[in-house]
Amino acid sequence: MRNADCELWRRSPRRAPKSSNRRLTQAPLHHDCCVVISEEEARAKILSAVASLPATEVSLADALDRFAATELFATIPLPPFDNSAMDGYAVRAESAGKNARLKIIGEQPAGVSKNLSLLRGEAVRIFTGAPMPSGADAVVMQEETKHEDDLVLIEAEKISVGDFVRKAGADLAVGQQLLKRGDQLRPASLGLLASQGIESVCVGAQAAVAIVTTGDELAAPGQQPRAGEIFDSNGLMLASLAAKTGVKVAMQRHCPDIFDTLCRTLLDAAQQDAVVISGGVSVGEHDLVRKALREISAEIDLWRVAVKPGKPFLFGKRDRCFIFGLPGNPVSAFVTFLIFVRPALLQMMGAIDLGLARANARLTHEIGGDETRPHYFRGELADAAFTVIGRQESHAIFGLARADALLRVRPKARLSAGSEVEVLLIH
Ligand code: AMP
Ligand code: MG
Repeated sequence: MRNADCELWRRSPRRAPKSSNRRLTQAPLHHDCCVVISEEEARAKILSAVASLPATEVSLADALDRFAATELFATIPLPPFDNSAMDGYAVRAESAGKNARLKIIGEQPAGVSKNLSLLRGEAVRIFTGAPMPSGADAVVMQEETKHEDDLVLIEAEKISVGDFVRKAGADLAVGQQLLKRGDQLRPASLGLLASQGIESVCVGAQAAVAIVTTGDELAAPGQQPRAGEIFDSNGLMLASLAAKTGVKVAMQRHCPDIFDTLCRTLLDAAQQDAVVISGGVSVGEHDLVRKALREISAEIDLWRVAVKPGKPFLFGKRDRCFIFGLPGNPVSAFVTFLIFVRPALLQMMGAIDLGLARANARLTHEIGGDETRPHYFRGELADAAFTVIGRQESHAIFGLARADALLRVRPKARLSAGSEVEVLLIH
């Protein structure tokens, strides 16, 4: 979000006389273009429309959280050579019984091979990570020895072949798979690739996303709201959700409910890989997004999904840009981002696992689903117990802000206190 071209909140000349304002000249749209479809159907439609962006090679330093676009296999074993797991003495186990005195014939530090070899009755002073001398088959840890001039006294009770030796290839063999397509590059996976000497990796491109908030009633945080105005909470929330999904927020702009301005803003926004619009997708006369999308020759693939909150959700495209219209109520925007937009953006960037992390939980109270739509309840997850938190209406952001998880309750379902449920983690 830092490097976003943030053109937030240029307060536009508003409340122009009705005669010159095309806002109110738009005829109300009828609902005949798209029928309400199920959540599953909507997600399937979106995911079948959204193609992966072309893959790109990035240095490992830039690859954190990106998605592997190719498979990668080990070319060197790990460890690459037999080495000591301890500071101590490399020995032959058969000659290193308790109280044996072994002759120290040399020293083998880490990072250099001295090509030492030892015989029965001999020892080599050795350090963690140093290559094992040939002929040695065990290491006695320093704490179990006593150094006496050029001899070492073994105080360990028993030394067996292989003690404290890290065998070549024991962790990873040549040819073993390091990465599958779609794997997310986490800190440890980057460490693994680096351990193979790999400098760069082929990953899915990072999607560039525009966030457009709409609404005459919105004031930017920091502005003085006029009577009847509320502060915009979706702009920052959606940009943050987008950034957490791993995309680049390339543009963030607010647009009043003025048709021409909205068309121009959406045209600009559609230069990105995806646009996320907040508000203006419902059925009122001031909901101009569908009309504006048609005006800029975007296709609307679906509008209105049977899900609560989030029914007015819209999905479409213009050329290679995918367009997501989210209801303006903050909880609806949040939930529809997570269940529809996030998986689509992840798929664009080459991910295969598109779902939110899940957890099993025990419901602490009874809960009833909506009559017709799956209902996402927001709740707190503590000690594997889920408790709905705050008001559950679509504008109620306070409870959402304290929630850890969403519980999807099927239409008409009644879940009793103590039920085992699976919740979706939202952090
Ligand atoms: P809309 O989807 O544009 O009809 O908006 C539905 C409700 O969400 C209205 O009460 C709006 O005031 C509110 N709303 C729309 N956009 C935002 C936003 N960016 N931040 C907070 N509330 C919003
Ligand atoms: Mg609105």
